[in-house]
This record gives sequence, structure tokens and C-alpha cells, in this order.
Amino acid sequence: MRASRFLISTLKESPSDAVVISHQLMLRAGMIRKVASGLYNWLPLGLRVLRNVEKIVREEMDKTGAQEILMPSIQPSELWKETGRWNEYGGELLRLKDRHGRDFCVGPTHEEVITDLARNELASYRQLPMNFYQVQTKFRDETRPRFGVMRAREFIMKDSYSFHLGQESLQQEYDKMHATYCRIFDRLGLNYRPVQADSGSIGGNQSHEFHVLADSGEDDIAFSTQSDYAANIEMAEALLPKENADAPSQEFSEIDTAENKSIEEISEFLKVETTKILKTLIVLGANTSDEQLKLVALVVRGDHVLNEVKAGNLEAVLEPFTLATDSQIESLLNCKAGSIGPKIDNEHIKVIVDRTASVTSDFVCGSNTDGKHFIGANWERDIQIGEVADIRNIVAGDASPCGKGSIEIKRGIEVGHIFQLGKKYSEALKATVLDKNGKQAVMDMGCYGIGISRIVAASIEQNYDEKGIIWPEVLAPFKVGIVPLNAHKSAQVTEVAERLYNTLNEKGISVYLDDRDKKTSPGVKFADMELIGTPHRVVISDRGLKVGEVEYKLRQDQDSQNINVDEIESMLLDLLDK
Ligand code: ATP
Ligand code: MG
Repeated sequence: MRASRFLISTLKESPSDAVVISHQLMLRAGMIRKVASGLYNWLPLGLRVLRNVEKIVREEMDKTGAQEILMPSIQPSELWKETGRWNEYGGELLRLKDRHGRDFCVGPTHEEVITDLARNELASYRQLPMNFYQVQTKFRDETRPRFGVMRAREFIMKDSYSFHLGQESLQQEYDKMHATYCRIFDRLGLNYRPVQADSGSIGGNQSHEFHVLADSGEDDIAFSTQSDYAANIEMAEALLPKENADAPSQEFSEIDTAENKSIEEISEFLKVETTKILKTLIVLGANTSDEQLKLVALVVRGDHVLNEVKAGNLEAVLEPFTLATDSQIESLLNCKAGSIGPKIDNEHIKVIVDRTASVTSDFVCGSNTDGKHFIGANWERDIQIGEVADIRNIVAGDASPCGKGSIEIKRGIEVGHIFQLGKKYSEALKATVLDKNGKQAVMDMGCYGIGISRIVAASIEQNYDEKGIIWPEVLAPFKVGIVPLNAHKSAQVTEVAERLYNTLNEKGISVYLDDRDKKTSPGVKFADMELIGTPHRVVISDRGLKVGEVEYKLRQDQDSQNINVDEIESMLLDLLDK
């Protein structure tokens, strides 16, 4: 590509609303432009990178035998009503009507459409397993679109869906996809980890997320210091501490705590560590109804955070996880939310204590009377303990649930997610095939997603310096950049530059020749080249050519090397393995 014929829209400064580095650099390099919140134009430079991601994903998916298809982004409400998701899928689902007043949505995902396709096209177990994939635009009306294409509303996903008879076949495909995802992320040059993820209410079925490690990540990942164990914080199990609770040493009493309510206020007021204070949160119980309100009191240590996913998965807790309102709390407990404690004797409120909280002694907790707290409280002696469960977020320093090492927490960007769906959608949509015995059998399904457009940003988060992006070769919009210096004054510089440009082009190497005229200074050309992250740069000058040399530099290197003009071409071809 000739720079003079290419849309170069680099910016010196990054726009103030871009807070993460990838967003700043994608704007500054002229890869994307915002159209509206969470909606972006991909400029020629950005699209080249996006296509490079897609290419690797397609190659690896094709190798597994998966078949590429393309489904529409607009989907009829009827299919979503069949699975119940038309009502369940919250505000992220963009619903719209056509001219006849019929309901549609813009697909945030494609389980409904693919399962409908499968139930119509697949008839026999002999055809299975099959895996279909597409690279397609999704729309999710995210509450907080941010970080550019990292959390956009419209984005590109590779999604695939596999169909099976039986868990064994599903597991095989799942393992194949796991390995394929690792190969894809390896080829993309990402520093990533497969992480155990929550499989939600389906329960028991496997799910892994693939996270790119970066401080700007929105997810917390728990790692073991001594093994491969890695899990989404929502999922990582906090074990029951090995030590039992210390024997009670304080007297149990109720004291006035005035207006102090939060853990911090109580800790400050009573001069006790937050580890010695228990907090109690009230949520709606699973069996609550209009006739009878049922609540669940969840008790965790003051320094810990209640894990809504874990709590929501408990049988006694209503799904979706819903905090009780002040008036619901007052109607059963006669006190305000800030005064609740675990000493509750009410048949409509079940108390569930976190494992670590269950081995805490001489603790402070609410007493269910406004303005008062208990101190010196101990389980069993003062307060009966009912159910104990893991309901908190794991924290750094906790024992790893794998049994080896302790937990370390790092931030991750989710770039992929694989999931065993089982029969969730196939049952709802009656997607069956004839089994070996000639009977209709419901298929098992797996689904596998990769955030194609998010990967572009995630890669930048791991590959940049103060000058701009440092693309790994496979993603670079151009692998080689040629800068002829003062070409307008030297026919020889022009000739050498053109020759190199033409040869590389003929060999199928993406190459960028900065042939902009003298109005663009060499300084600007160098700065642009570094900002857009071209891996291999060749500078051709009159001075160099006088001694038969050109200057070569790898983007991440500080220094350049002088290379004999007759050797540069073969050197580049070697480096680029052509
Ligand atoms: P997240 O937790 O980040 O919201 P998700 O779990 O809802 O993602 P999936 O339904 O698993 O996402 O979608 C598959 C992949 O699509 C994700 O792993 C991610 O890489 C990508 N993705 C999801 N939402 C967005 C978005 N708003 N913008 C860009 N990519 C996204
Ligand atoms: Mg996900």
C-alpha cells in the first residue's frame, strides 16, 4: 500500500474520553472512529488487523472440521419466545418491530437460530457430531459500553455451536475446542490463560473462559501460586479454613452503637478489626410468594465480599439473586438493613453462614435492633449456626482450591468462552434426531465464542510502548514499512524503494511505502510508522545508498542496523519466512 493513496488518520493527542491504552492507540493510529456510544467505524488500517484475527480463527476452526455458515443478525421473537429468553434476557437485548408490527431482536448471540436450523436440517444420529461456526456482528445494549471496541455495543464474534447425541461426544468436541482456542490464542501471540468459569444455573456442565492478562481487564481471575489452577473469581471455591474457631474468650453482650452501621464505621467506633465483624445481607428466598415473603440472611466476614453467583446458586436463594428491599426487611425483622445480624429466630428467614465466617470467634455483629450490636459473640454458645456454605469471593492469600499453593488475583480480558450447554436449548426447541434405535432423541449442544474485535484491543493492551503499538507479525496491518528519505531529491532513493516495495508485494507480503511528498516531514513519517506498529522498518536514504546500505529496524528494538542494499530483500523474505 502506498501511503499517498491510503487513509492515514493519525492523531497526536488521544481524545480525553479514551481511558485505556488500547482505546487511545486505536484512535490515535486511525484504526477506529466512534459513531455513537459503543458503535465504531473500522477504518482501513483497523480493518486489516481485524481481518488478520479472523483469518487465524477461520483457519483453526476449519482444521477441526467445523463448517462455516452465516446467520442473520436480525432474529424473530418467536424463536426467543420458544426458549423463554424473549422475557428473560434483560435490557441488553435490542428489540425492534418491522413494518407489520412483528417483534424482532438484533442478535446478541445465536443459540435460538442455530438450534432452529439444526432441528430442521439434522435428522439422524449418523450426521452427528456437527459443529457450525460463523464470524458475525452481534449487538448487546451494554449498560456501560466503554474502552472502545473492548466493550462495544456492536462487535464481531466468532460463535460456534456443536450438536451431539450423548455427553461423551459433547465432551470430545469441547476438549477439541479447548485445544483449538489455545492454538488460536498462541498464534495470535497473546499472553492468556484458560480459566474455569461459572456454568450458571445449568449446573454441573463445564465452562472455560480464555482471558488475556492485562491490568485494564474487567474480570478478576484467581490463580494458584503453585499449579495451573485458574478460575474466574465468581467460580473459585473458598475452602473451609483448616483451623477450627478459637474457643470463646469474651462475654456476649449487646451494646449501643448509635448511628454507626457500616463495617468501617463499626470497626472505627469499636476499635476492632473488620475480620472480627460479621455482616449480614438479606436476599429473597427461593420459595417466596405473594402470600408469604421468604428471606435468606447471608453472613460473611466484614473484610470479605459476598459472591452473588455462588449465593444465587444456593437452593434456598431466589434466582435471579435479588437483595431484599428495606420495607421487606422491616416487615419481617422490625429493624433497618444496617442493623441486621445472624441471631434470627424466624421461620420465614433462613440463615446461611459463609465457611470462613463460621470459624470466627468473639465477633461483632448486628443484633436486629436499630442502634445496637452484639459484641463477644460466638457460634453455638450465643448464636445457633444453621447452614454453612461457600458464599464469598476468594481473596489473595486464600488456600488454592486445587490443594496446591495459595491464591493470587490478576485482571483479565475475556477473549473467548466455551460452554457445554447440554440440552438447554435443544429441549426447549425440540431439536431431535433419530437415534440408533430409530427413536427421536434430543441433541446435546456445546457453544464456543471468540471476541474477534475485542482481541484487536486486547493485543494492544499487551503490546505497546510510548511511541505506539507493537504488533506481532501475524496481526500487523503491514508487515514491512519502507520510508524513502527525501525521495523528491534522489532518483536512486525512489528507485530502490520502489523496487523493494514491488518485490515484497509480489511475494504477497503486506508492505507500506511512505511515499508521501515533501510536505510530510521524515519525522512525521517515522512517528506514524511507530504509532501504527509496523514490525519491520526499512529507511532508504541517499547517504546510506552512497555506501551501498539501507537502514533496518525491528519495531521493538532501540537501534537500527545497516544492511547491504543487495541483501535487504532476501533478509526480509527470510525473516518473514517467504
Ligand atoms: P463479558 O463478560 O465480557 O460481558 P460475555 O461473557 O457476556 O462477555 P459471551 O457471551 O461469552 O460474552 O461472548 C463471547 C465473547 O464475545 C466474549 O468472550 C468476548 O470476547 C466477546 N464479547 C462479549 N461482549 C462483548 C462486547 N460488549 N464487546 C466486545 N466483545 C464482546
Ligand atoms: Mg462469557
